[in-house]
Order: sequence, then structure tokens, then C-alpha cells
Amino acid sequence: MNLAKVIFSKTFLVTGFSALSLGLVVATAAEAKLTVLTTTTDLRSLVEVVAGDLVTVEAIAKGTQDPHFIEAKPSFMVKASKADLVVSVGLDLEVGWLPSILRGARNPKVAEGSDGYLEVGNSIDVLEAATGKVSRADGDVHPQGNPHFTLDPLRAVKAANVIAERLAKLDSANAVKYRENALNFGKGIDEKVKLWSARVAKSGVKKVISYHKTLTYFFDRFKLDNVAILEPKPGIPPTSAHILSVINLIREQKVPLILVENYFDPTVTRKIIQEVPEVVAHTVPVAVEGEPQIKNLEDLYEDLIKSVETSTENSVSKRKAG
Ligand SMILES: [Zn+2]
Repeated sequence: MNLAKVIFSKTFLVTGFSALSLGLVVATAAEAKLTVLTTTTDLRSLVEVVAGDLVTVEAIAKGTQDPHFIEAKPSFMVKASKADLVVSVGLDLEVGWLPSILRGARNPKVAEGSDGYLEVGNSIDVLEAATGKVSRADGDVHPQGNPHFTLDPLRAVKAANVIAERLAKLDSANAVKYRENALNFGKGIDEKVKLWSARVAKSGVKKVISYHKTLTYFFDRFKLDNVAILEPKPGIPPTSAHILSVINLIREQKVPLILVENYFDPTVTRKIIQEVPEVVAHTVPVAVEGEPQIKNLEDLYEDLIKSVETSTENSVSKRKAG
């Protein structure tokens, strides 16, 4: 009887101990899951593509916000303080707010220059890099080039690969998976770019006007000529004289389409439509979650392609601004 008791308690002890060790192992595995903070929803979408459930990821800016101007809220600093990796666009896009958030976070893991800080823009073949001296009089320009590269599906693939490499470095156990996911994303996008290009060509649209230079990479990829910008200079709101010159240009060059990023004031386009009723103006989302149904970058590109296609339809679509 006594012996049985001893055996019983020994078994209990051993089992209890094993359960405890197992618990420790599980806790360690859960801790190993990386926490990623991205500046934009587009970058968050790319982290999701590359990492799936292997990481937890959040974005600072909403898809409906102008990413140049985000408030450096204390809640973002708290998020950055807990992050293993901060992914930013770079090229000065977040220069007005990310440094404050990182300073407030006091997290050496994600400090600039560490492995936990990634500026994707440094690895991208940028457009519109300034040559010569740039002054504030030229508007809110980025001397390092246009930072809105995620609007080009192929540069987004490049960005996905850059993110995959950094995740692989921080979490080598899942390196193969990150690289494989980025590769598969690239294959899917390559196929879709061919289809999207064919649809743009079929639409007959060649000239487009936008409000800001947000869509530069999208236009470049799909061979659309961005003949004018409603901002006279980047970051500077349209003036009457500039709007008048754009109206003349629309008439002279028979520009069929204006795409206005949905976080800008649509009254300017209303004025233009009054003067030139033939031109079609669409208010478009230019980031993931820029509209509720835009869940990822592929949705975003598809939506923009549709906006180009519907510019040649006679019916007044719900997309029409104003
Ligand atoms: Zn910009």
C-alpha cells in the first residue's frame, strides 16, 4: 500500500513536471512570434503576404490618411515600444512623424540602424529623385525620390522580398517560409500585371491627371501619361491660376480622366468638371483599406484599373467625384 502510494506520487510528480516543461516550451514558441509595426497599410499588407500567421502586424497610418501627415500619438509609441521590427517606406515619407514615435518608444531593438528597423525605400529603384539643390520653395518634395512606390505592383514585389529577407534574418526558423511566400506573391503579381496592362491598353486612356504625385508609379507601370498635377507643387494646395492652366490643358490635350486620391478635397475637381464636363473624375483609394473593400494590394490595383476602364463608359458611375 505504501509502495503504491509512493509510485502514485512519483508518477504524479513526473507527469506534473513534464506538463510544466511543455508549458515552458509553448510559452517560448509564443514569445518567438515576431511583433511587426509598419508605417502604412500597404506595408502591413506586404508583411501579411510574406509572413501570414507567423508574425503579428499592425500599421500606424490608416489607408484613408495622407501618409505625409500623421500625428505621432503616444499610443503609436507604445506599439513601437513592443515591436521587434518597424517597417517604413523611407525616402522621407514619414520624416514628419516616425522619428518622434521611435524616440518616444525608447526601444533599442527598432532604433534606426538596428536589424529591427527597415526602410524599404532604400532598396527600391525610385522615380523622380531630385537632381541639384532642392529648397522648401519647391513644395514638400522628397529629394530622395517619390516615396509612393507601393502603387506599382512590381516594386511592391521587390518590397515583399526585402521584407522577407529581414524577417528571415530576425526569425531564421521560418526563413524558408518567408522567402517562399514572397516568391509566390511575385509569381501571382507578374501574371496579373500582364492582364491589368492589357485592360488599360484596351481602355484607350493614355493621359491622366492626379491631385498629388501619389500615383506616379502606377501610371509609369501602366504607361499612362500623368500630364498634370492639381497641386502646383507637391504638398501645396491648388491655386486658381494653376486650376485654370489645368483646365486649358485638359481641353487642348483632350485628357479624359482625373484621379483624385480620396484624402484630398474634391471641390477642385467639381470646379474643373463644371468647366469641362467631358472629363471624368474619380475619387480613388490609394492605399490598402483606403476604402473598406480594399483588403490588400491586389484589391487596390484592381480598383485603380477599374477606375481607368470606367472613364470611357458613358454612364455616370458611383465613382464619379462630386
Ligand atoms: Zn507624396
